[in-house]
Amino acid sequence: MDKLIKSISTSGAFRAYVLDSTETVRTAQEKHQTLSSSTVALGRTLIANQILAANQKGDSKITIKVIGDSSFGHIISVADTKGHVKGYIQNTGVDIKKTATGEVLVGPFMGNGHFVTIIDYGTGNPYTSTTPLISGEIGEDLAYYMTESEQTPSAVGLNVLLDENDKVKVAGGFMVQVLPGASEEEISRYEKRLQEMPAISSLLDSENHTNALLTAIYGDDAFKVLSEEAIGFACDCSHERFESALITLGKAELKAMAKEDHGAEITCQFCGSHYHFTENDLEELIND
Ligand SMILES: [Zn+2]
Repeated sequence: MDKLIKSISTSGAFRAYVLDSTETVRTAQEKHQTLSSSTVALGRTLIANQILAANQKGDSKITIKVIGDSSFGHIISVADTKGHVKGYIQNTGVDIKKTATGEVLVGPFMGNGHFVTIIDYGTGNPYTSTTPLISGEIGEDLAYYMTESEQTPSAVGLNVLLDENDKVKVAGGFMVQVLPGASEEEISRYEKRLQEMPAISSLLDSENHTNALLTAIYGDDAFKVLSEEAIGFACDCSHERFESALITLGKAELKAMAKEDHGAEITCQFCGSHYHFTENDLEELIND
């Protein structure tokens, strides 16, 4: 399992989350067989959702849709407040690197579009917010959403590093927020530190990157760890869930499927699991 560490400066002026999301993104890559740029774009969206979910209280469901008009197509992710996240990218085959450095490119292949968040507190009245994509690099888009839409000035850094075979080497990130009551002096000191912070890629490449991130964020300032939570890729799909989805198609459609296809094969978009419904299964649904 991966982990998310919640922390606060002893002065109470700032709080920070740091994440190890390596297994999360590795699982996503294995399930969706994504190539380099698609792996990083999907992975960053999953990390963004882990950060957003950590920021919610109670039992809620958080959806992020990154809707660009370029190569990737849509990236959809759903997280809950128990540490689970799932997601998929429409085009799994984007594979573009800078030849000189081998750096995987994401932003230029996102195009113009929107960063959409849907937060469902289970009241049947989800809260939806749409902000424009600022750079398409996901981290900046999440920071913009949090600052603009949630009115909480936030700094975000997140990334996915690949090995020489384009497999996930390490993934993770951080979020820092100013809390009410922070003094101007404290704010400018933190801003300076964040500006001078080493690149997220080099911090992720450290031996213990969650510690390296905490050190880079707090410097010499005292802080305390509030909690350490398990996070990871998990899909909540099931035979029953797809049965309910089939029922919503209506009797005529189900009859056609039973008669013409003699059953139904359904693949979960989020995790790639296959579900098989026989002609008999469909007839039972029709007769219910
Ligand atoms: Zn699934």
